[in-house]
Amino acid sequence: MNTKFALGNDVSLAIFERLESEVRGYVRSFPVLFDRGLGTTLIDADGREYLDFFAGAGALNYGHNNPVFKRPLLDYIEHNGIVHGLDLATSAKKAFIEAFERYILKPRDLTYKFQFTGPTGTNAVEAALKLARQVTGRPNIVAFTNAFHGVSAGSLSATGNKKYRSAAGYPLAHVTSLPYDGYLGPSVDTIDYFEKLLNDPSSGLDKPAAVILEAVQGEGGINPASFQWLQRLRELTYRHGILMILDDIQAGVGRTGRFFSFEAAEIVPDIVTLSKSLSAIGTPMSLVLLKPELDVWSPGAHSGTFRGNNLAFVSARVALETYWADSKFEEEIARKSAILAEELKSIASDFPNLGLSVRGRGLMYGLVSQKHHSLPVQISQEALRRGLVIETCGGRNEVLKFLVALTIAKADLRRGLSIVRDSIGSVQDSIAKNPAGTTPGIRDDA
Ligand code: PLP
Repeated sequence: MNTKFALGNDVSLAIFERLESEVRGYVRSFPVLFDRGLGTTLIDADGREYLDFFAGAGALNYGHNNPVFKRPLLDYIEHNGIVHGLDLATSAKKAFIEAFERYILKPRDLTYKFQFTGPTGTNAVEAALKLARQVTGRPNIVAFTNAFHGVSAGSLSATGNKKYRSAAGYPLAHVTSLPYDGYLGPSVDTIDYFEKLLNDPSSGLDKPAAVILEAVQGEGGINPASFQWLQRLRELTYRHGILMILDDIQAGVGRTGRFFSFEAAEIVPDIVTLSKSLSAIGTPMSLVLLKPELDVWSPGAHSGTFRGNNLAFVSARVALETYWADSKFEEEIARKSAILAEELKSIASDFPNLGLSVRGRGLMYGLVSQKHHSLPVQISQEALRRGLVIETCGGRNEVLKFLVALTIAKADLRRGLSIVRDSIGSVQDSIAKNPAGTTPGIRDDA
């Protein structure tokens, strides 16, 4: 059977270079014509297999084409289930909401209401920011250094990276960026600084409607905030009547070990944004969870043609029933997390000249190269040659980003880590020749 969807047998990427905008990103990092995906294996149009340590930038926590979701989706289409429904009531949507309440909210004593927004993560962030401004009547928002919340105008204002900000073409306003945990070094608790600004009538900080944050920053370089910092921030925002928006688009849905990234810190945000792996199979879907007392929306005030993707509702519901009905999946993630963390630490110590360090939580880890910023991109390129897809992140691409599917087999996890180790061994000579470390290539950061 010919599984190639491109016309003829041309597996070159010339048509993308000729016709697709220069804005394209990931295809430059991974110049391969991908054809199929199963679990943690990607197969290109020539039949070559790659191990996937990228997981759709966090959208494929359950792997590619997980059979657990495939059959119910095929059945749903076969059965002429509603595919497009705006925000109409459908049985697929009802079953998803019921499952989310039963498996996620109730066991955690959470009482959020649901707002389905347009399909991508940034749509959820836009809605959350709008809501916080409506509730409080204050325009300003506090975001944090190295944050990434999306690239539409409102979310972009809360995103740190200059590359994205400068593409806006007009001033990004109404957001104050403050130092995230660890930004000023380990000895400075940046909540003290925030608190001082709030208490000082002459600080120049307009009291914000909300803070928006990731509990573990993804695109900004895999920066986990300490539980204590998150707790202090929660307490401070309560005390000052400032809402907390927890953007769990990348770190949520099990990525850091629990369903929500903030659970382990035992805090309850006022608003939570979810997207990426929520749909479970990679179809777009976004959700804002809001405390009921914040639900000041007037009917239809925030709209969109693709609110609530019914195919996503089907696979998302099956994922909740399959993986989140008990604690087995979380225990499995913890076991794999221990393997990942241990092996990364061992890699870092086996290449002492490179000055590598390790940070992360759950199955969201980074190998950080502060000494040679170009190293992670070179490792990623070498890994691709050796059959491993792995990306980089951080403001200078100084972090090799480990975002494996949570369902990865332990043997594949170990195999991928050994490819990384070999790739580092192979590129370290070129690093010795170019210690200044200019970063070649262009990386996308979705
Ligand atoms: N928020 C976070 C934490 C993200 O990591 C991302 C994407 O990487 C977004 C928001 C934006 O999501 P999307 O690219 O689907 O618009």
